[in-house]
Amino acid sequence: MRPLPFPFRGALSLSFDADCLGFAFFEALMRLLNTRGPTPLGPGLGLETTSSLFFYSQRREHFSYFSGLGPDAPRCAEADRLDDYLRAGWIDANHAFGDFSPRGGFVRAHALRAYETLAALGATLPVFTNHGPANNVQNVAPEAPWRTWQRGDAPGHPAYHADLFPGAGVRFVWADSMINELAPPGALARLRALARQGRHALGPRQLRARRLSFPCALADGTRVRGFFRFRSTGEPPPALGNLGRQLAQVPWDALYARRGCVVVYQHPGVLEKTAGRVVPCGVQAVAARARELLAPLRFLAREREAGRLWVCGLARLLLYGELLASVRLRRLGPGEVELCGGDPALAPRERFQGLTVYDRSGRGLRLWCAGRELATVRNPADETGAASVSVPLVPLEDIWS
Ligand SMILES: [Zn+2]
Repeated sequence: MRPLPFPFRGALSLSFDADCLGFAFFEALMRLLNTRGPTPLGPGLGLETTSSLFFYSQRREHFSYFSGLGPDAPRCAEADRLDDYLRAGWIDANHAFGDFSPRGGFVRAHALRAYETLAALGATLPVFTNHGPANNVQNVAPEAPWRTWQRGDAPGHPAYHADLFPGAGVRFVWADSMINELAPPGALARLRALARQGRHALGPRQLRARRLSFPCALADGTRVRGFFRFRSTGEPPPALGNLGRQLAQVPWDALYARRGCVVVYQHPGVLEKTAGRVVPCGVQAVAARARELLAPLRFLAREREAGRLWVCGLARLLLYGELLASVRLRRLGPGEVELCGGDPALAPRERFQGLTVYDRSGRGLRLWCAGRELATVRNPADETGAASVSVPLVPLEDIWS
């Protein structure tokens, strides 16, 4: 098996938190990242980048599906358009149900309504990410000593909701301690300092696709998969204004040499945070400084165009890593291989998408699953000199044209 879909030698997913993400800027940014058309921020980059959302918020600087913090808050003015993003999978993460930082107040009814809304759309958010400080009791946390205010997985607490994860299709959970950073080799003091903060160095082992996520039991015993996000900005929160510095710390040589993967932690709605003051991104402000601020995204697009870097949505990358860890190949005969494993709830075309198997004979290879042949594409030799066949990736629906 090839660790990544042909022809890529590394994979990267931007994991967007919804903080400060105004709707106009969100639309402009998603259009820039995910289309090739003209956009308010310049020509589209043709990548695949997904986002999280808040369901509930009372602040004006970021959008949320419902306007307000009550579990019965009305749908926001942009909810119909958000439905497009949710149905098509361009929004694939639930950022802790909402921004309860101002005054708390999250209860289970908030979660139930969010999941009912998703079910009515036929949408699933496979990823849950914690948000903000202590008023966000809906956050979850897998282990001490990082479990402090989090009560979303505490049975009996009014904010308890983690038992709803399996039924709602939530597979991947990011908790506050799941952060990694570049640590220079040999810098033991730095590694120890990272460990004291509960952070982890991004080393070669963590880069492997099959290690992208790991089994994780929440406080109530709910089993999910945790995943790390690459921060590496020091104290300032990851923001559009420091994305360049953040990407510069990705160990690119090791990533490409090992066909590794990285999930980059970002707040694209934040331009910068200075002296405790958050400067949100606006379409005009970012467009005026597009050359500088969007250069890191254009760098990703160039790596993608060169066939080196697979830039894909967060849920897609996490699911791919999980697939790679579970799939097994069984030789049926000359040039015929059966694929076993993966999520049986998915049709084989979706379950095995992206999977690439080397065809060392170069005479062609047919892939089967449970007695049915899978549609594949043949790839020329890659950097190892071997040809391969791939189960094609199923693109997300174009919701912009
Ligand atoms: Zn947040």
